[in-house]
Amino acid sequence: MEYPGNLFVVAAPSGAGKSSLVKALMELDSGVHPSVSHTTRAPRGQEKHGREYFFASQQEFDAMVLADAFVEWANVHGQRYGTSKKMIEERMAQGSDVVLEIDYQGAIQIKQMYANAVLIFILPPSWEELRSRLERRGEDAPDIIELRMQNAAVELAQAKEFDFVIINEVFERALFDLKAIVHAQRLKYPAQRRARADTFEALHLA
Ligand code: GDP
Ligand code: ADP
Ligand code: 5GP
Repeated sequence: MEYPGNLFVVAAPSGAGKSSLVKALMELDSGVHPSVSHTTRAPRGQEKHGREYFFASQQEFDAMVLADAFVEWANVHGQRYGTSKKMIEERMAQGSDVVLEIDYQGAIQIKQMYANAVLIFILPPSWEELRSRLERRGEDAPDIIELRMQNAAVELAQAKEFDFVIINEVFERALFDLKAIVHAQRLKYPAQRRARADTFEALHLA
């Protein structure tokens, strides 16, 4: 299925800086919209229902799976996370660019469903830095940090399946790279044809 909006999928091991980068991108670019996932995990500190996530009980999540409401869902760090089909398809149909911050299992499912999706993997500069960011963020208990570090090894091995790789060492550099990927996507022929229909018509281009 082809939509006028682009679909960007950003994956990274927890703590690599995915949320910070996507948040900064959206502050700079009003054409990019987030998809708010559903999760069975409990809210952290300042998280609000409907903003970072829709927090769902196991039963509510089961019901959505049965109703085929998710375009993808996966088990991540012992919890379930899913992307609502309705939310992303409505946004893309309106011509908005949508960004998903999801794990690699979800990213691969999205690529199978939407061949045009752009898959971006964020790497930390080192294992030491990944651990220290998780610790500095101060949102997760030590045992959760351990689990996330263990899972990170499996996650990093998937980076080669992605279209683009960004190393988040210097934040501003990584943000520049992310903006470049979004920008390049908007310069592809079909996207330009939609955005600049008048110019294409004046040039008698189909
Ligand atoms: P979260 O997106 O809710 O997870 O928030 P974070 O705690 O990850 O990030 C808070 C803010 O700090 C975001 O708006 C980021 O843009 C910004 N930020 C995070 N890390 C860096 C950094 O290394 N350099 C700069 N310049 N900004 C950062
Ligand atoms: P994720 O969404 O991938 O779990 P976050 O965006 O929450 O990661 O980032 C984890 C922590 O690392 C946050 O405290 C964030 O401020 C910090 N961080 C992100 N990018 C950088 C960077 N380039 N340099 C230093 N710290 C960073
Ligand atoms: P966190 O609990 O730190 O917010 O997220 C944990 C992991 O779940 C991250 O790797 C994040 O990308 C992933 N995740 C968040 N939402 C979704 C989703 O809708 N689908 C999938 N497959 N993974 C998600």
